[in-house]
Amino acid sequence: ILIHLFNSDITLGKNGVPVAENFRLEQSTIADTLQAGQVRVKTLYLSVDPYMRCRMNEDTGSDYLRPWQLSEVADGGGIGVVEESKHHNLAKGDFVTSFTWPWQTAAILDGDLLQKLVPQLVNGRLSYFLGAAGITGLTALLGIREKGHVAVGANQTMVVSGAAGACGSLAGQIGRLEGCSRVVGIAGTDEKCSILVQEMGFDAAINYKKGDVAKQLRELCPGGVDIYFDNVGGDISDAVISQMNQNSHIILCGQISQYNKDVPYPPPLPPDTEKIQKERNITRERFLVLNYMEKQEASVLQLCQWIQEGKLKVRETVVEGLANIGAAFQSMMNGGNIGKQIVSVSK
Ligand code: NAP
Repeated sequence: ILIHLFNSDITLGKNGVPVAENFRLEQSTIADTLQAGQVRVKTLYLSVDPYMRCRMNEDTGSDYLRPWQLSEVADGGGIGVVEESKHHNLAKGDFVTSFTWPWQTAAILDGDLLQKLVPQLVNGRLSYFLGAAGITGLTALLGIREKGHVAVGANQTMVVSGAAGACGSLAGQIGRLEGCSRVVGIAGTDEKCSILVQEMGFDAAINYKKGDVAKQLRELCPGGVDIYFDNVGGDISDAVISQMNQNSHIILCGQISQYNKDVPYPPPLPPDTEKIQKERNITRERFLVLNYMEKQEASVLQLCQWIQEGKLKVRETVVEGLANIGAAFQSMMNGGNIGKQIVSVSK
């Protein structure tokens, strides 16, 4: 007997705010026997991510994202341990991961679609493979390398929005490691801002819920902004873009402030901001980490090395139990997390 998590039949609508009740628990059974090539896994960790909001719409707005169907088991990034194997390359006890892990406590999966994990690479912190040593870390690193134009010794200032989240907290630190001389974060609470400065090495951080963001940026970035790692879009991004230098660069990572609204991706900039972007020749190219997967292996090794050397500080917010995954998703979308939001399913 297993617990499955299903989408609820409460339709969200393109403009709705997701809540835990959009998901429903059910019990089911899995087959007793494995076919050739299959493995039986126990789920250890699941990831909840902002893109899942788009999977709750009939039209996700992206070719690469399939909508979740009502009453179908939801899926996303996951990690588990092999308990039985009929796959030539996987054995009992192996740790494995997939981007399409079903939200179940146990499952039978096609072994060819799983990647084997080496726990030693992350000092045994397996869940890091869903965050700092997984897609999140890759997004931060490759976003900066592919779209950031960071040059060592160029005295560049980077601003990161959504800075205390999974991606943002890594992006600021990687911006520094890659050569930025000043890194400023924008996040939603004072606690997040103090962690960014005291723990993650940001030079300063702004609580966007308090005071005027553009004014604070002017004070904290006296030489203007050269690179903007944008996780949020909306008013925060308009304020940052107003402070950007000639020939500077936006890393268009995500626009979470717009995900509950019926707008295209990437959402167009308001006319005044677009005018600034054009006049100052600011690049704003769409970035999608999945387009750079040929760089995955080398980049994950780089991230693991930084983690082991203590150069990349990692934070997680862990919720226990598959039954709480809907609540974890809702909380993450509302800023309840510091660092990567993880759901711990079993030990
Ligand atoms: P995350 O930042 O860990 O969690 C989301 C955070 O967004 C919350 O903690 C909250 O923090 C902030 N937020 C929520 N609503 C907001 C609003 N209206 N205005 C400003 N901030 C808001 O999530 P993540 O997984 O690291 O993802 C961050 C961004 O990266 C998302 O936009 C995501 O879509 C994007 N992403 C892109 C790629 C790619 O390939 N391009 C890959 C992965 C992720 P506060 O307390 O600060 O509000």
